[in-house]
Amino acid sequence: MTAYEIVVGMECHVELKTKTKLFCSCAAEFSDDPNRHICPVCLGMPGALPVVNRQAIEYAVKAALALHCQVQLTSRFDRKNYHYPDLPAAYQITQMFYPIAKGGYVDIETSKGCRRIRLNRIHVEADAGKLLHGSSGIGGAGDSLADDNRGSTPLIEIVSEPDIRSAEEARVYGEKLRTILEYAGVSDVKMEQGSMRCDANVSVRPKGDPVLGTRAEVKNVNSFKAVERAVHYEAERQIDLIEEGGVVVQETRGWDDEKGISISMRLKENAHDYRYFPEPDLPPIILDPEQIRAIGLTLPEMPEARKVRMVSELKLSEYDSEQITASRYTADLFDETVTLGAEPKAVANWIMGELMRCARTKGVDLAAIPVKAQNLAALLAHVAEGKINNKQAKEVFEEMFDSGEAPEVIIRKKGMTQVSDAGALEEIVQTVLAGNPKSVEDYKNGRTQAMGFLVGQVMKASKGQANPGVVNQLLTAALEAMK
Ligand SMILES: [Zn+2]
Repeated sequence: MTAYEIVVGMECHVELKTKTKLFCSCAAEFSDDPNRHICPVCLGMPGALPVVNRQAIEYAVKAALALHCQVQLTSRFDRKNYHYPDLPAAYQITQMFYPIAKGGYVDIETSKGCRRIRLNRIHVEADAGKLLHGSSGIGGAGDSLADDNRGSTPLIEIVSEPDIRSAEEARVYGEKLRTILEYAGVSDVKMEQGSMRCDANVSVRPKGDPVLGTRAEVKNVNSFKAVERAVHYEAERQIDLIEEGGVVVQETRGWDDEKGISISMRLKENAHDYRYFPEPDLPPIILDPEQIRAIGLTLPEMPEARKVRMVSELKLSEYDSEQITASRYTADLFDETVTLGAEPKAVANWIMGELMRCARTKGVDLAAIPVKAQNLAALLAHVAEGKINNKQAKEVFEEMFDSGEAPEVIIRKKGMTQVSDAGALEEIVQTVLAGNPKSVEDYKNGRTQAMGFLVGQVMKASKGQANPGVVNQLLTAALEAMK
């Protein structure tokens, strides 16, 4: 048996969140009714002249700086010629020969440790429109309709070197890229909604062989989990093929996530098939170093730097800081809550515990969570001061998560208080002890787990309002006295 090595390079298309399209003033708003936002420029009508969107270029530069690329002082647009119904101009404006940025890298953490994935380039390009298949529109089922709202909206394509060596690395690379771009604030980066689209170029070769194998490009992957599955499937398919004496062909394959397989779509074109030539209607993009520096200053503290600070200054563990910094929302919420005086480890536990749990079970996007730092800090203060217990705090948090309300409001509404007064609890403790002679006997015989049961009974009798710490003390004292 030959041992094989998987080689993957990723091409990720990322929509830039500009207000308008790349070369005209149409709104970059494609959730609207079809063909609401189109004009002669974005439809590529003869004689209509494009003007480049300054914001799109600034976002592209910002992304490039966040990814440690060398931003090019001169870049240029080219035409990529092909015909497809979602491309009325029959050419796409992209950057083939002089991209906006070269080089760069993404550092990833996998189960095998830390790895650096180098980038080849970033280029700016115009997106294509969208086809609606089997729509119930004009033609009814079986027809395809073209919607050009998305046509000519700005994208960056981030092309990695073939440095990825496993399906897991491909997933982690995509996730890390998303995190970095989310921090940079240049895109919504939602795989499921198509504002980030990752294609994987997969090949295999005998371990130790310096020559790259023939690659297949896997497209239509709609989540990072699917990236991992698709790369794994494709590598296995190629290895099986080679083992059976077959030959891998250069092709584009579509991933079917439901069936868990990829299907050949077309033989892969080569660059010369597109007859690229310099775009005659657009001047080159000239940037000066001062401009690039100024854009760099608008970047926030990036995830790597935040992680280091959280570990060294706030004494979080590597694992906790990794989890917290995976999204800018949780990282900002953490930092702001700690600034308001909350204890770092407690904040981290609430974010990784209740907040993540609520987001997962309720299917809420992190960016859409209404929990504000001052409210989380206030909730933690209530717990620390013993005004409510942990169980009550979780109930309050869930409501904060749903409504965005302040904890004081919710606590008042629910009539929650925590009883810490020993006098008031003593009576309940005595009633519980009298009602559970077996547990008392167990405790006396050294079975200390009986304690947990008795605490639970007191909590229940107090309708969850007793301070568990005080209950514990009272019960211990009473039981020891009975020995
Ligand atoms: Zn337009």
